[in-house]
Amino acid sequence: MRYIEPHAHMVSRTTDDYIAMATAGCAAICEPAFWAGFDRSSPRGFFDYFRQLTEHEPKRAAKYGVPHFCWLCINPKEAEDVKLATEVIEFIPEFLEAANVLGIGEIGLNKNSRNELKVLEMHVDLAARHDQLILIHTPHLEDKLKGTRLTLDVLKNDRRIRPERCILDHVEEHTVGLVLDSGCWAGMTLYPETKCTSARAVDILERYGSERLWMNSACDWGVSVPLAVLYAALEMRRRGHDAAAIDRAIFGNPLRFLSQCAKFKPAM
Ligand SMILES: [Zn+2]
Repeated sequence: MRYIEPHAHMVSRTTDDYIAMATAGCAAICEPAFWAGFDRSSPRGFFDYFRQLTEHEPKRAAKYGVPHFCWLCINPKEAEDVKLATEVIEFIPEFLEAANVLGIGEIGLNKNSRNELKVLEMHVDLAARHDQLILIHTPHLEDKLKGTRLTLDVLKNDRRIRPERCILDHVEEHTVGLVLDSGCWAGMTLYPETKCTSARAVDILERYGSERLWMNSACDWGVSVPLAVLYAALEMRRRGHDAAAIDRAIFGNPLRFLSQCAKFKPAM
């Protein structure tokens, strides 16, 4: 099976994970900028992290034959500090030309606060000015439905933004319809404890069709499974989905969305 991992935080994973993913057929890994598990103390912390994502991690992935791509932003968990966010957003453009940068992400809301909303708008403006794809995180802690609505309003209010170039991640049963109706893409995150299980994700695929949906492991430094996308593929196979449908869900769809950025080239 070939597949694309469209959302993984590889800086916190071991080389064993790269080997497992590569041998399982991973044709590309995409890494959104994320929280380190603790707040960074200054904008320089982000500068170094962006260098890690654009220079170091692609070289690490290349050792296992997997093309590595990334998204840049100050993530929602650190976006409460508007001054810090403003300073970080100022130097993001100098990284956008890097060969593996796909766009701005994962931006969005965490606690649906006013400051987070302001920083979300700043990121959307940054993406519009530089014609970048957008990857959005939807809240887990606070009200996901409210956070999804607020996020879609921000996108809708900026006339420069084309919904087919935006993906809202971590959707669940109560938010997926709203996202797809907006014209945006939707991502399902497969976590062993929280978010979607494989069975729930495949239920959603069966109910909403697979046209603008993808699945990811969002593996990071917490409890998560780097091969989760393939576990969902096995669930599809168990339910009788044919090879073409499985390939579309785990390879064709992410390929279609990500190829809107000319830099995206999976190993074929
Ligand atoms: Zn993430």
